[in-house]
Amino acid sequence: MSKAHCVDFNHPVLIGRELEYVAEAFRNGHISGDGAFTKKCHVLLEQQLGVPKALLTTNCTHALEMMALLLDIQPGDEVIIPDFTFVSTVNAFVLRGAKPVFVDVRPDTLNMDETQLEVVITPRAKAIVPVHYAGVGCEMDSILEIANRHNIPVVEDNAHGLFGKYRGKFLGTLGVLASQSFHETKNFSCGEGGALLINDPVLIERAEIIREKGTNRSRFFRGQVDKYTWVDVGSSYLPSDVLAAFLYGQLEQRDKIQAHRQRVWETYHNGLQAWAGRNGVQQPFIPAHVEQAYHMYYLLLPDLETRQRFIQYLREHDVYAVFHYLPLHLSDMGLKFGGQPGDCPVTESVSDRLVRLPFYNDLTEDDQERVIKTIAKFDF
Ligand SMILES: *Cc1c(COP(=O)(O)O)cnc(C)c1O
Repeated sequence: MSKAHCVDFNHPVLIGRELEYVAEAFRNGHISGDGAFTKKCHVLLEQQLGVPKALLTTNCTHALEMMALLLDIQPGDEVIIPDFTFVSTVNAFVLRGAKPVFVDVRPDTLNMDETQLEVVITPRAKAIVPVHYAGVGCEMDSILEIANRHNIPVVEDNAHGLFGKYRGKFLGTLGVLASQSFHETKNFSCGEGGALLINDPVLIERAEIIREKGTNRSRFFRGQVDKYTWVDVGSSYLPSDVLAAFLYGQLEQRDKIQAHRQRVWETYHNGLQAWAGRNGVQQPFIPAHVEQAYHMYYLLLPDLETRQRFIQYLREHDVYAVFHYLPLHLSDMGLKFGGQPGDCPVTESVSDRLVRLPFYNDLTEDDQERVIKTIAKFDF
């Protein structure tokens, strides 16, 4: 019997007309930023989500950096962030001199625990940054109510949550600003890419300036000003139109991609339910008022030792599962900001126990069945 091929954790997948559009971008004679495909992506995101303005960026990290600039984050300002997230959520603000304030996550959704928000808010708090983990919406009603009462802007890191909804509203449309990621590991990808969603129209003009090296180039091209000059701080956050063309090929297939991901998620969820129940493994929880974005499928094993053995066992059976997010407060940088063991006990526990299963846009039913059958034979 030949050895079965390995089931990757993730790999890039061509879904539609990505390569045709890349060729078209080249034929258009415009492969730098803000060409025809960048505009198509902007319009698609604005129309589908109903946001006043979407701007493609080089990646989600840069969209987060733009947020910090747009909010005028200054040295010593505090930014409230979940402890269980990717480093970019915090780094974008620390780069401007902010002090991160880490909030633990809820044990059910692994999202920022809104009941702990009030306790950490000080007069120096200048932003609250919920992350919709796994594309499952945070408790935005509570978060926005608390933020409004203290007059602190909410900006969403929606890297996982494109097309997910909270109480019928798209994730990414609830804060003043939101970031999206089109990294290879996300639902929609162009390798490296991102977007800034702008829900407060007052911020649109300055966002365009910051994205275009601190110049009013966008207004100049629209004929709104007669010279193109340096007007503010900024950087270069525009992706090449070649990448926008690839991304448009993916976004155009959003229904197909999301339907496939929903099927993959549900197959894991149903296929592992009895096994998880028998062995004390926690499956993801999706609140009834949330429509998730089907970004990932994770399991929470009983402890670190079992999680490590589980990943090793799957690897020996050619199935690649991974873990992620070490608690930010216990990272080298987190310790410099005063993090201590025990500060965020849920994150500390989840970080030891979480495992992410293979999940990509052409994962076949056969491969998924093999993953589920292999898991079912794991010896606890
Ligand atoms: C992937 C990710 C990012 C960073 O995205 P890039 O596009 O790689 O910069 C930020 N936040 C979260 C929660 C992510 O998962």
